[in-house]
Amino acid sequence: MNLHEYQGKSILAKYGVPIQKGYAADTVEEAMTKYDQLAKEEDSPFAVIKAQIHAGGRGKGGGVKLAKNRAEAKEHITNILGMQLKTPQTPGGMEGAGKQVNKILVAEDAYAPDFDACKEYYVSILLDRARQQNVIIHSVKGGMDIEAVAEETPELVHKTYIDPELGLQGFDAREVAFNLGLSGLAFKNMTKFIYKLYAAYLGADAALIEINPTLHNADDEIIAVDCKFSVDANALYRHKDIAEMRDTTEEDATEVEAQGYGLNFVNLDGNVGCMVNGAGLAMATMDIIKLSGGEPANFLDVGGTADAERVEKAFRMILRDDKVEAILINIFGGIVRCDRVAQGVIDAYKNIGDIKVPIIVRLQGTNAEMAKEMIDNSGLNVRSAVTLQDAADVVKSVLKTA
Ligand code: GDP
Ligand code: MN
Repeated sequence: MNLHEYQGKSILAKYGVPIQKGYAADTVEEAMTKYDQLAKEEDSPFAVIKAQIHAGGRGKGGGVKLAKNRAEAKEHITNILGMQLKTPQTPGGMEGAGKQVNKILVAEDAYAPDFDACKEYYVSILLDRARQQNVIIHSVKGGMDIEAVAEETPELVHKTYIDPELGLQGFDAREVAFNLGLSGLAFKNMTKFIYKLYAAYLGADAALIEINPTLHNADDEIIAVDCKFSVDANALYRHKDIAEMRDTTEEDATEVEAQGYGLNFVNLDGNVGCMVNGAGLAMATMDIIKLSGGEPANFLDVGGTADAERVEKAFRMILRDDKVEAILINIFGGIVRCDRVAQGVIDAYKNIGDIKVPIIVRLQGTNAEMAKEMIDNSGLNVRSAVTLQDAADVVKSVLKTA
């Protein structure tokens, strides 16, 4: 689960990681109140106005602006709140529709008073699955796209792997500070920064923490200016406070809805919708869709109880996607009986009414023959298939674009 920058920073602060101070707001009025408060606390009219969306590269799209006074702050806040922010990371990139900004962070100007003396580094912590170790990726080339840095100057991207038995050691933190070319107070502050950041990563069951830029200011302080924070959703049960930070408006609406019904749904780009029970069978079904010349429009595991209500909900979600040219239902009747699923499909079909795309149903297992007969005699635009190959062939025959 992804968090907003201001939420990630609030977790970092709990672990003692120095952060760029700031306050989040939903409206222009609230943001101006926060601005006034911050200006007073910092004794400076400078502030950075930052759009809060689940995507990076906001600066490139005009979602991060430095204000030198109150009037500029108001102007930036008014412009950014509610805007459709396009960044290289929002859907469709800079050419796409962007994401609406519903929240804003009013932050101190962490680069003051000596902007020119500031350095920006890249620091992230994540799990390297192949090595089964957490890794601290770091670079002196901060404040820019790390993929581009890795492409153009791979020698400037360093990785420090953490031994899972030993945990983060002093020499690991010092290696990071050394690779970043630091000495003296900055070296010391960076090792502390890494210690605390790693504690936050472990403590919050994070999947990723990326601080880009990590600021090295004129006073040799090391400060988290940006914060991309992603937590392991499977561990949320033990982090009630973090679970409450979920912002479903940032997630795919259909996927959020599916979770509410207990369906495991992932939106994809293809033209064949699929409805399957069991994740493994769903993967196999997506493979046969590809073999038939189609592309899966979604991954959908309806779970053990493929009853009429769930089938209908699943149907409606798939049909909302106008790229869908056919729907393949592939159910193995182990616990659930095939005739019940068939009845579910028929009932759902009748309830929804005007389904225009062809539906191919493959039911195997308990009462499969009875189910096939029910489908074949239903008089609906539903075709049954017996083997996976049959199913693939029928899908192929109905696709316009295969
Ligand atoms: P991103 O574009 O989504 O990655 O957002 P960031 O939080 O990284 O901000 C983008 C850029 O704005 C940073 O790389 C900095 O150069 C700049 N920036 C962020 N905070 C400050 C600040 O406090 N003062 C100044 N002068 N620039 C800032
Ligand atoms: Mn950034």
